[in-house]
Amino acid sequence: MGLIICGKHGESGFTDRVSKEVASCIDDGTPLKESDLKVVVIRMYDEDEFLGTNKYLLTEKEFKKSGIPEVSVVDKESTYDVIKDKLPRMEGACSSCLNNFYKNNDIDPSSIDFERL
Ligand SMILES: [Zn+2]
Repeated sequence: MGLIICGKHGESGFTDRVSKEVASCIDDGTPLKESDLKVVVIRMYDEDEFLGTNKYLLTEKEFKKSGIPEVSVVDKESTYDVIKDKLPRMEGACSSCLNNFYKNNDIDPSSIDFERL
């Protein structure tokens, strides 16, 4: 997580794996339900070594369009690139704005399981 200067929150944490569509809903205050959101999970291995998990927050619509599975396990950079290419553009969001967005939409961040802030 990096830092940004948010128009509402000043210097703030930045969550980068938020799709453009989700980010614009956060910006505009467009209401979304939990069922409108989808977290795509990519688990990365190098041989048998577990490298980590990347999670991406998409709208359900973007997820359907992307055609990628909800959870992928990759052990090669080339496989990872194929999946990343199919993901919609990521825009990222201010972490405080994302938290407010959850609150305003009655979304439980732990059930979304994207990033617990
Ligand atoms: Zn903010």
